[in-house]
Amino acid sequence: MLASFAFAVIGGVIGIAWSSPSFENPQEPRPAVFRLRSEVPVGDIGGRQILEQMVDLCRDVEEVLLIPPPERPIQVNLFKSKDSFEAFLIPRIPSAKGRSAIYVDDPEGGQIYLWHHPDIEQDVRHECTHAILHQSFQEIPLWLDEGLAEYFEVRREDWAENHPYLVEFKTVLNSQSVQRLEALEALEHVNQLTPEDYRSAWAWVHFLMHGPTPAREEFRQYLIDLAADSKAYPLSERLRARMPDMEVQLFHHLQEW
Ligand SMILES: [Zn+2]
Repeated sequence: MLASFAFAVIGGVIGIAWSSPSFENPQEPRPAVFRLRSEVPVGDIGGRQILEQMVDLCRDVEEVLLIPPPERPIQVNLFKSKDSFEAFLIPRIPSAKGRSAIYVDDPEGGQIYLWHHPDIEQDVRHECTHAILHQSFQEIPLWLDEGLAEYFEVRREDWAENHPYLVEFKTVLNSQSVQRLEALEALEHVNQLTPEDYRSAWAWVHFLMHGPTPAREEFRQYLIDLAADSKAYPLSERLRARMPDMEVQLFHHLQEW
């Protein structure tokens, strides 16, 4: 998830007993982009491991999308519990209620907030993808932001072959389960997104990354155009011109993948 607005974090997060004011990965080139502060002692939660995951993910995202590396800091704020996370965030971002993680744009870079739980790796990868994208694109359509975050939230070896959504498409879903791209492009606020929208956004990203040549070509050109101009000609119109039956092709792609 990402917050669609920013709030200022003045002088760090006041009132939180961070065990480490700001912890960096010593392997990362200077100046370090990724930083972690945690309410839980860093040694206990593998802080270095979290930062290494972020650096690896960042390299992967750059390599796949051909985008430049982020230059402004990306700060991970790890809370010890859901209660602690909500006590800090809900007064500032009411929609954080019930979430396990959230990304917030910050003029200085980006802030990732999450609470410590057993599946923290997936949340870190999802929110970190948002943070990277928001530095590479002045604006990115909501559906694409979430579709890419869903795609990259699993480990690299699982991106193409083993995402839980892929299993759903192969077993229980039908061709009506995918939202039209035009409908996804019309979404403007993260609070509008349903679980089906997230799943459809992921499906389109998979199709654009691994589908037929016209889909991959149009996606590649769209990313280049979007990096240069946030009002780039919509992807749906580009794809529709070359693949009028693109929903049918998408569903067959996932079924046969
Ligand atoms: Zn997200």
